Amino acid sequence: MAKTYDPNNVFARILRGEIPCKKVLETEHALAFHDINPQAPTHILVIPKGAYVDMDDFSARATEAEIAGLVRAVGEVARGAGAAEPGYRILSNCGEDANQEVPHLHIHVFAGRRLGPMIT
Ligand code: ADP
Repeated sequence: MAKTYDPNNVFARILRGEIPCKKVLETEHALAFHDINPQAPTHILVIPKGAYVDMDDFSARATEAEIAGLVRAVGEVARGAGAAEPGYRILSNCGEDANQEVPHLHIHVFAGRRLGPMIT
């Protein structure tokens, strides 16, 4: 069953320009901006422009172009942040058990310091 998308979630409002963001990259299919509460020296969020709740929803419904567009944007952001060397982490919380707060798919990109072990 498709998840219901809330068009008034904070990232939908950023996409509509109703809330400001510190933009890093914008492409046809994706927007990247700095996280408002950074957990690392570099903490950027990359989101698809389409209305997708989470990775479950996106991987089931998005077009090939949207999927490619999001993955390319994540790669470009990580490289552009100078994060590819010596390393970075990408993460996406999906659903309640993963503590997803904002119900619009977002990929976190963390870099800029030695990161600890994976959070469980
Ligand atoms: P969690 O907060 O548990 O990591 P999510 O994976 O849903 O849950 O992440 C939401 C992220 O969005 C958080 O890192 C939060 O700091 C960030 N955030 C919330 N509102 C804004 C905003 N207006 N601009 C930028 N980042 C935001």
